[in-house]
Amino acid sequence: FGQLAATDPEIAEVVLGELARLRGGLQLIASENLTSPAVLAALGSTLTNKYAEGYPDRRYYGGCEQVDVAERLAVARAKALFGAAHANLQPHSGASANLAAYAALLQPGDAVLAMGLPHGGHLTHGSKVNFSGRWFATVGYSVRGDTELIDYDEVRDLARAHRPKMIICGATAYPRLIDFAAFREVADEVGAYLMVDAAHFIGLVAGGAVPSPVPYADVVCATTHKVLRGPRGGMILCREEVAGRIDKAVFPFTQGGPLMHAVAAKAVALREAATPEYAAYARQVVANARALAAALASHGMRPVSGGTDTHLALLDLRELGVTGAAAEARADAARITLNKNAIPYDPQPPMTASGIRVGTPSVTTQGMGPETMAAVARLIATAVRADPAAPGGAAALRDVAAEVTDLAGKFPAYPH
Ligand code: PLP
Repeated sequence: FGQLAATDPEIAEVVLGELARLRGGLQLIASENLTSPAVLAALGSTLTNKYAEGYPDRRYYGGCEQVDVAERLAVARAKALFGAAHANLQPHSGASANLAAYAALLQPGDAVLAMGLPHGGHLTHGSKVNFSGRWFATVGYSVRGDTELIDYDEVRDLARAHRPKMIICGATAYPRLIDFAAFREVADEVGAYLMVDAAHFIGLVAGGAVPSPVPYADVVCATTHKVLRGPRGGMILCREEVAGRIDKAVFPFTQGGPLMHAVAAKAVALREAATPEYAAYARQVVANARALAAALASHGMRPVSGGTDTHLALLDLRELGVTGAAAEARADAARITLNKNAIPYDPQPPMTASGIRVGTPSVTTQGMGPETMAAVARLIATAVRADPAAPGGAAALRDVAAEVTDLAGKFPAYPH
């Protein structure tokens, strides 16, 4: 770090400022986590210099003997941890992994059935501003209005009507378990591939805290930086029959040289994720999310679908009369980082939204347990109710911020 500070004090200040932000606040973004120093060390290594287009032993560049070892380790660890026939660790991100899955299995114009964006699907599941919605005929399924759970009857009806070539399950803001067997059945009935986008929950699968999609899916796409606690990046697990197509779709179809420092860091994270400590962590993430959702409910924030089985909860704030956007801004002012989120059948536009999404991967990494979630919920509720434009609102937010920093200090991020 001394060298960075000497060469570029402005960026050094940003790095220190970000560390101070992490240490001084509560990180409740469901898609974030705090990687280990070992993962950071691999990321900040000389492997960043190496060009390695191709795959181990089949490279377009010389001098790949060391990075080949890293990639083979990453692939072997992913296959062993998830019981997958094949793994590709090169995707630069979750969106890149999804692009490669589309490219491997489909032709432009093919029909795809995926969760609708307003119901928790991701941009890569058919948004018109994304390649998926522009180049494919995407159809969105919903959650039921009464239970707020995936409407499996609608999934079957839409599949029969549209005969998709690929069905996607997995979402960005769905707090419940997904019935992979039900999706497999529908996919088989209409002759579709089943792609599970496990970007959010693959880390819970790694720790055995939720069921695995691997036995059911043709392809599982994931990110490595969420609950899994690795570097920013993507990963694809798949059946042997589509392995060659997946590899070719990642390179050379959608990417050039892999980020070998990131591939090595993924290997480190996968090794960490195979330990009993990580399995305990994954279970604690879910226990914390359940405790947090229940505590927020007691403060008038309604958990969508009634609760959670995963690392995240979606809260409907309409009863408080506060929009998701206002709640996010107020929480931010109190050093609580979370995001506004549309709730199913949201009457508000997405940039306003009626809800917030909270997740527990980071606070669990910091060592917080369910007993601390009541305090976290109280701080969120106090912040969300404090209108900075009303008398006393700004002072209330300052008080919460001080309490937040106090609490975070008891569970420091990156303590050493
Ligand atoms: N798929 C899902 C379900 C996601 O939630 C995300 C990101 O949050 C992605 C894909 C994309 O991942 P990335 O941001 O790494 O491209």
